[in-house]
Amino acid sequence: MKLKIAILAGDGIGPEVTNEAVNILRAVAEFGGHDFSFVPLLLGGVAITATGSPLPTATLDACLESDAVLLGAVGDKKFDALSPDKRPEAGLLQIRHALGGFANLRPSIAYPALSANSPLRPEVTEGADILFVRELLGGLYFGSPREWNKSTGEAWNTMRYTKAEVARVAKVAFELASKRRKKVTSVDKANVLEVSQLWRATVTEVAKDYPDVTLEHQLVDSMAMHLMNIPRNFDVVLTENLFGDILSDEASIITGSLGMLPSATIGGAVNLFEPVHGSAPDIAGTGKANPLGAILTAAMLLRHSANLEQDAAAIEAAVRTVLADGNRTADIARGNVPDKSPAQHLVSTTEMGKLVHQALAQSIDQRQSMHAV
Ligand code: NAD
Repeated sequence: MKLKIAILAGDGIGPEVTNEAVNILRAVAEFGGHDFSFVPLLLGGVAITATGSPLPTATLDACLESDAVLLGAVGDKKFDALSPDKRPEAGLLQIRHALGGFANLRPSIAYPALSANSPLRPEVTEGADILFVRELLGGLYFGSPREWNKSTGEAWNTMRYTKAEVARVAKVAFELASKRRKKVTSVDKANVLEVSQLWRATVTEVAKDYPDVTLEHQLVDSMAMHLMNIPRNFDVVLTENLFGDILSDEASIITGSLGMLPSATIGGAVNLFEPVHGSAPDIAGTGKANPLGAILTAAMLLRHSANLEQDAAAIEAAVRTVLADGNRTADIARGNVPDKSPAQHLVSTTEMGKLVHQALAQSIDQRQSMHAV
């Protein structure tokens, strides 16, 4: 398989974690005989320093010519005095907008080895493996009219969706659920909001094309409770923009560290893959950054932009293995000391990357020798 991947490492820990993710992708290419090429490009603070713009035209053009975009993180205190449209984060918003993805995918997984890292009890998080599918281009964040009228003391925003916008993101959720545990939980507020009634009716209609997938509807308020009570009950959770923003952050505590969370934005001109965390200036350059969120993001890239499911699953399994062996970057070592946990080894960003690489090589060796038998 041939794949051209634009690499936007960005600022702070962005280059540190992206480097480990790219190493893993190189390993997958080598083991599988794939032809992956990596195109390093400037975005964020590094782009401002080099060109004056947080998203140079050359970066945007090269991203649009790629098969996938892998982003690290942007943000640097030294640009805080600039106006919001000139800061590194403006480049991130611009690239997301230009690539045009409408479905944001965010997994929330309870790793048994990290069960003590979540503020939730291990018996609550056990078995949780949720994939959020959040609509990203519509709803309250983009609807008009919107205004803060300072003279009258009023402000308003508009939650607006078309049937077509709901149907296309619902299809993404059902397609993904049909390859997982075959359940979609659609979140709305249909007891109060007309836009949610359209949402519910449209999702119900789309569900008819997926008879093997179970659909349930949940009101957003009770969903916020159920997520923390019995997270293992959920498979794919489908939400509009605002509800998904809030619920996916809430569910991230199931995993226990921001450094572990990957994400993908699909459906646009080119799919965009980025860990959930920011540039973490407080730990940049110290070797403390957890690269697993970026490495799991690389797995999502293989799954959603190259259909390399087996390789994506192999990366995810390698991450589980290194965690089960007790390897921890500083963020996930904290507090994780239940009696039955394995001895912990505190490792740096690059050491963690190498451990995942080793575990991946071993599992691919085993896979290949099984094929040879
Ligand atoms: P942050 O995500 O950078 O950091 C929050 C906390 O989590 C920090 O204590 C940090 O050390 C820790 N952390 C984050 N990622 C980690 C990792 N991989 N391993 C270990 N610890 C990790 O959020 P922030 O501090 O609010 O923002 C810092 C900068 O990042 C700001 O400029 C902000 O605008 C930017 N930001 C960028 C993105 C993005 O690029 N997608 C997202 C959020 C924030």
